[in-house]
Amino acid sequence: MNGEAYRVEPGTEVRLQSHDPSDLTLCESGKKPGRRLTTELNARLGELQEVLYAEGKHKVLVVLQAMDTGGKDGTIRHVFDGTNPQGVKVASFKKPTARELAHDYLWRVHRHTPGSGEIVIFNRSHYEDVLVVRVRHLVAPEVWGRRYDHINDFERRLTDEGTTILKFFLNISKEEQKARLQSRLDEPHKRWKFSRDDLAERELWEDYQVAYAAVLRRTSTAWAPWYIVPADRKWYRNLVVSQVLLDALEGLDMSYPQPEEGLADVVVE
Ligand code: AMP
Ligand code: MG
Repeated sequence: MNGEAYRVEPGTEVRLQSHDPSDLTLCESGKKPGRRLTTELNARLGELQEVLYAEGKHKVLVVLQAMDTGGKDGTIRHVFDGTNPQGVKVASFKKPTARELAHDYLWRVHRHTPGSGEIVIFNRSHYEDVLVVRVRHLVAPEVWGRRYDHINDFERRLTDEGTTILKFFLNISKEEQKARLQSRLDEPHKRWKFSRDDLAERELWEDYQVAYAAVLRRTSTAWAPWYIVPADRKWYRNLVVSQVLLDALEGLDMSYPQPEEGLADVVVE
């Protein structure tokens, strides 16, 4: 299995209509084997994260973006369940506070980027500043229009300084969102997740598709690629994200730090 099939080639036009949210082509054997495979991948991911942490050399940034109910929380829960919380952090970006709004939009983001040996997962990100901000007209078009270039430069700076960046757009269908929102209303223990805002956002579905297509076309770069993950099936979404992450970590060629000389002869009395 190779998640590269879902990587967006830099500079290519993205038509989201031609990306099927219920695609399962990399695991046609179905849900059960798919979940088993994910469990194996996650165990390996846990091992590599341990080396990443011990070596303290590389930094990894994972960006998750999706429409409401797209599965950002579920992805974090499942893909990272084999990792050590000591070396993995999650940063969630909500509506900016007054203090955050008083600064440029990258200000609040930069301080959460990973340090050496860390994996940081962005649950939403600076991309909201060209998504919700664009769709809801929170700033003028010439202001958000300049941001794609800023973002590419910002991410370039991070990768130049030793960060690996992977960006996932969890692609759900409008029908699947309807079902998931409805189940948030129907199931009492899920109701806390529901917000009336979600319905207003849903009405803007088409505008968001346009805004996402622009993001994917303009900010999938050689140094910080986007992956469009079919996300109508949760097990498949987890499998694809785990696989892409694992391949990236394998590619880092990491090793545990050299221990001190002569430790083999040391006996603890
Ligand atoms: P949730 O992820 O469901 O907790 O919702 C967070 C909300 O914050 C979403 O409605 C986002 O669109 C919103 N949000 C995140 N970043 C920004 C931003 N930069 N400007 C405006 N709204 C934002
Ligand atoms: Mg929400």
